Amino acid sequence: MFEIVFLGTSASAPSVHRGLSAQVVMHDEYRFLIDCGEGTQRQILQSGIGFKRLNRVLITHGHLDHILGLAGLLSTFMRWETIEKLEIYGGQWALERVHDLIYGIVLRGAKPPMDLQLLQIQAGTIFAEGDFSITAFPVWHRGPDCFGFLFEEKPRRPFLPKQAEALNIPMGPWRRDLVDGKPVTLPDGRTIHPEQVLGPERPGTRLVHIGDVGRTDELMEVCRGADTLIIEATYLQEEAEMAERFAHLTARQAAELALRAGVSHLILTHISRRYRERDVLSEAQAVFPNTFVARDFDAFQIHRGECVKVQREAEA
Ligand SMILES: [Zn+2]
Ligand SMILES: [Zn+2]
Repeated sequence: MFEIVFLGTSASAPSVHRGLSAQVVMHDEYRFLIDCGEGTQRQILQSGIGFKRLNRVLITHGHLDHILGLAGLLSTFMRWETIEKLEIYGGQWALERVHDLIYGIVLRGAKPPMDLQLLQIQAGTIFAEGDFSITAFPVWHRGPDCFGFLFEEKPRRPFLPKQAEALNIPMGPWRRDLVDGKPVTLPDGRTIHPEQVLGPERPGTRLVHIGDVGRTDELMEVCRGADTLIIEATYLQEEAEMAERFAHLTARQAAELALRAGVSHLILTHISRRYRERDVLSEAQAVFPNTFVARDFDAFQIHRGECVKVQREAEA
């Protein structure tokens, strides 16, 4: 299961109701801040997420509405909050800009307040720990080295309690080892192999996050069958020409991608203040009914085939 909290959902400039691009994807104890538009740290506080363990940032691309918040965040870490390590992942162009911002403006010769690493990414797996991985893939937008991110749980074989009952396997560590794929020797001397109590392999949850993008044809493969696709919808179809000129999508184009790729759910973000939210939603839903338009502080839990909007408890 992945959880995503939207911290900022506005395109290019903030509106009264929407901050600039930022979202947090969580899985077990892992947290990834994706993009960090201006004002993100206040959204982090207001969302109740807090700064703890927020030590990995993924940057989709180098446009200012996606990175300026890093300066304020670093500044806060210099005075108020402590964190041991901060990893910022991005393409070359984005990282050059982030480097200028952090080392040229914020630090200016001072030591970073933590072990700070700027990690340049290329298409492929950029993170794999525990039972999931993150794969970066190229997306077409203004400027080079723009990336989308696929969060993917490893496939799993479910434990079959009825089989375990039938084999008289006691509760306790034996069952846990079998779930982990290890053969066990029971107190009565029998050896049980995982195949005896595990069902057929099931694919893990897949969450695709795509920031600013102007073309969808090459995204079909990575999106195919995803449980949730999060993608920008900066324009409506009536301004499709503008969308093309600035390398953004219309709500309808985003919905058409969701439909053709056979995803389960679609969440639209990067919403322009020139439109009403309900117009964005209805344009997309006419093509792909399982669509949400994200608002700041919306949280969703994403399971296999499911995407549920949830109320988050504030974390201490
Ligand atoms: Zn943007
Ligand atoms: Zn952009």
